[in-house]
Amino acid sequence: MTSPEVSETLQVLNRVFGYDSFRQGQQEIVDHVTSGGDALVLMPTGGGKSLCYQIPALVRQGVGVVISPLIALMQDQVDALRALGVRAGFLNSTQDPDERRMVEAEFLAGELDLLYLAPERLRVESTLQLLDRGKVALFAIDEAHCVSQWGHDFRPDYLALSDLHERWPDVPRIALTATATKATHAEIASRLKLEDAHHFVASFDRPNIQYRIVPKNEPKKQLLDLLRSEHSGDAGIVYCLSRKSVEETADFLVRNGIEALPYHAGLDARTRSEHQARFLREDGLVVVATIAFGMGIDKPDVRFVAHLDLPKSVEGYYQETGRAGRDGLPSTAWLAYGLQDVVQQRKLIDGSEGDAAHRRKQSAHLDAMLALCETVECRRVQLLAYFGQDGAACGNCDTCLAPPESWDGTVAAQKLLSTVVRLRRERRQKFGAGQIIDILLGRKTSKVVQHDHDSLSVFGVGTELAESEWRGVVRQLLAKGLLAVEGDYGTLVTTPGSDEVLYQGRQVLLRREPKRAAKASTRTRRAETAELPEEAAPVFEKLRAWRAATAKEQGVPAYVIFHDATLRQIATERPSTLAELGGVSGVGENKLAKYGEQLLEALSA
Ligand code: ADP
Ligand code: ZN
Repeated sequence: MTSPEVSETLQVLNRVFGYDSFRQGQQEIVDHVTSGGDALVLMPTGGGKSLCYQIPALVRQGVGVVISPLIALMQDQVDALRALGVRAGFLNSTQDPDERRMVEAEFLAGELDLLYLAPERLRVESTLQLLDRGKVALFAIDEAHCVSQWGHDFRPDYLALSDLHERWPDVPRIALTATATKATHAEIASRLKLEDAHHFVASFDRPNIQYRIVPKNEPKKQLLDLLRSEHSGDAGIVYCLSRKSVEETADFLVRNGIEALPYHAGLDARTRSEHQARFLREDGLVVVATIAFGMGIDKPDVRFVAHLDLPKSVEGYYQETGRAGRDGLPSTAWLAYGLQDVVQQRKLIDGSEGDAAHRRKQSAHLDAMLALCETVECRRVQLLAYFGQDGAACGNCDTCLAPPESWDGTVAAQKLLSTVVRLRRERRQKFGAGQIIDILLGRKTSKVVQHDHDSLSVFGVGTELAESEWRGVVRQLLAKGLLAVEGDYGTLVTTPGSDEVLYQGRQVLLRREPKRAAKASTRTRRAETAELPEEAAPVFEKLRAWRAATAKEQGVPAYVIFHDATLRQIATERPSTLAELGGVSGVGENKLAKYGEQLLEALSA
């Protein structure tokens, strides 16, 4: 039997949001919080966390107070809720006193369903008193991993959130995050005093995202190929490590006819927010960015996330790639990775501030990331395992679609390592990968001749592999810790593991890149799941044009009007009455009343 609240939450889901059913995990969370329980929710990006506090806030008495660090996005979040007929407002530092007073008055008069607050507001006694004078339905703590001091997004203001419980012991709290290894999970629970809360851990799988990691040759050109062949006209995010490469890559894309905007901390605040706003509002823009971009960007139709440099951790990588495909439609997570990335990241760690423990931790993060890059198994299985979850081979990642072979690289590894050892023992020298490979290939370059390296006994012993293959060997040995880099010039040095390979017969299995790239199969997959029936395509375009005009007129992002998935369903089913239109997923009561007639007209025109 369902309790009255349960059916009420489902009604709100249908009526306000226009969705038929809860997604996996949502119902339990919504019911728990609606009936006054505390919750800690771990769910991947795009999993549907917002409804988990929005619906309880609508059903419970009083105002749902949402604490979020994403000040720049509050306006959009509030606009999106208002478009659904939800009474939402926010308080943050971007407002002038008049605006603030108005929102405060609405709150006190019980005229709000949801109030978004920046965390620093809660440090101000007057805000606390304001909350005392009104009725709070619940506290939702979004991006809860910001309370984790070792995490990558730490915000000191989040530490104060542990006091909420003392001041308002009867108000339920729900903390939500998409970043969740065991360690982060435990830290959030203890810092927010949520040990006794119900912990909901959803599956972290994002089946609609296709994970691909490719060897890096000419990264910009590889990126361009990807965009042209699979994502033309799509919105996407390209991540680069440095500001400089952000600028260069954005320029390169623009010169090649792709609308791309840079985003990094070196740009002034106005340019940054302008670029972010354009990305959210316009269709099909590409943002090239450092990791400063993206947290809380809930644009549902980001079709690809590309990394041109190796991310520093699997956690960060998963969060960044998770920004693709929130609408559930097929999307691509693509990473180009090469030897230079390993050299560079090791250098960054060696030169980083902080104590030895901190460096060890960064090193462990990097190792996990490298293991993901070099795996011959399903990428998704490995990703989920990182978050402590099981899964079967997915059929939608590059290693599943075009399985790489592994080969016995023991002899190759021995040749390479003994070159490093000989240079050190016989010449007291250290060199980077380029010179070592030249020696193995027997190339009489000027640098080889200058150092008399052609007289080494290992000179020319490695001609069975091509240069690119040798680079692959170096990269994989580095990833496995069987070789190490040192200093500013990326010189190669041996490790205890190298000795096992050289003297104790340790076998080295290496990955051979598949000849056939994974992308051919991608297109068929996309075609099956996402391409519209032929006759629906022009209708979809017509609806998109209507949406663009409407969004512009109202000054909101296009997806606030309707998501792509909703327009697709309308274009395919072509409803002819308001009742039929109301049955489409994503068309709730308010939007039906507001846009129903216009849409039916656009369809019949
Ligand atoms: P998260 O905050 O976990 O990243 P969101 O709350 O932004 O995810 O939800 C992701 C997308 O899924 C949104 O576009 C949202 O409208 C949609 N969504 C959430 N729950 C449902 C549902 N039960 N049915 C259909 N769509 C849903
Ligand atoms: Zn797979």
